[in-house]
Amino acid sequence: GRRYEVGVIAGDGIGPEVAEAAIPLIEKAAVAAGAEIAWTRYPWGCDYYHEHGRMMPADALDRLAPLDAIFFGAVGRPDVPDHVSVWELILPIRQAFSQYVNLRPMRLLPGVSTPLAGRGAADLDMVCVRENGEGEYSGLGARYDQGTPEESAEQIGRFTRRGIERVVRYAFSLAASRPRRLLASATKSNALQHSMVLWDEVVREVAADFPEVEWRPYHVDALAARMVTHPDTLDVIVASNLFGDILTDLGAAITGSLGLAPGANLNPDRTHPSMFEPIHGSAPDIAGRGVANPIGAIQAGALMLRELGLPSAHDALQNAVEQVLTEGTVRTPDLGGVAGTSEMAEAVAEAM
Ligand code: NAD
Ligand code: MN
Repeated sequence: GRRYEVGVIAGDGIGPEVAEAAIPLIEKAAVAAGAEIAWTRYPWGCDYYHEHGRMMPADALDRLAPLDAIFFGAVGRPDVPDHVSVWELILPIRQAFSQYVNLRPMRLLPGVSTPLAGRGAADLDMVCVRENGEGEYSGLGARYDQGTPEESAEQIGRFTRRGIERVVRYAFSLAASRPRRLLASATKSNALQHSMVLWDEVVREVAADFPEVEWRPYHVDALAARMVTHPDTLDVIVASNLFGDILTDLGAAITGSLGLAPGANLNPDRTHPSMFEPIHGSAPDIAGRGVANPIGAIQAGALMLRELGLPSAHDALQNAVEQVLTEGTVRTPDLGGVAGTSEMAEAVAEAM
């Protein structure tokens, strides 16, 4: 069987709790599929920051580059400014490794309840393809006249034709591969007359190559409302970095819990490793109590197995998750239960 080198950046708060709960399950699924995973743990994050003055070492990207994949927990802690922890760890990896697709399934799993009245699993089966390397999170901008009454700040969204095109093309081909073949583009070209007008133009051009996909643009605010009122009309959603970030937390909430939702930071060209993570953050409000839901991390592990070329391992892990949720006897507090992180992971292991 093949051997995969996977780096683990568990990070802060509940990051290590959910990542360490998920790892043995991912391993078990891989081994059952005849593969082997060699895990290397990198102790980067807020503790590292306090000791070394930076979130990860100067050669971190060089060390990660040869890996087959990166498994990520979450970063951020109240004793380090969030813009430091995010900008010195997760965003540089996404950008340097050209992980320009952030794939975020938003699916109501059987046995999980949605806050949307009268809705069930058949109504909530969406996937967001979020642009992951530029746009509103370009990092460009400045603050001026700090501490004066004239103080101001600029945050520049930088969108490139190439950057939009590649993620939109990925989204259209994903939509073409799904039964409903629908694509919604999140825009805001009525108010953002430069960036989102370019976005709309590129979407229209790429759409011409996918006549089998039924697509339409929605202003992002209306799309957020539509996710709540008519989720059954949505399939693939393609969105810019900020819009996709917001829409996917909403998507996680309406499909049961932020703790369930997985994400994959994909480099579709495979020039660098992709990175897999639950979409939630480090949840300082529940960290250290052993009650975080590990399912988001476990499902992220399943996505990793699929991307590594182990579809049967993906299916085994995903089916075990769905079996445990359907039974509903073991549930963490975010799902209305009383189970801890390790109990939940143990239940998935047994189901496998
Ligand atoms: P968060 O996702 O950490 O938490 C939001 C809410 O969801 C909290 O009430 C939390 O308890 C709950 N929650 C999140 N994950 C859960 C899980 N697995 N099980 C049960 N409940 C869960 O978002 P936040 O509070 O805005 O941010 C906290 C920190 O995380 C900040 O430092 C932020 O910058 C960071 N953050 C990091 C990432 C990342 O590493 N990719 C993403 C988002 C936020
Ligand atoms: Mn987010």
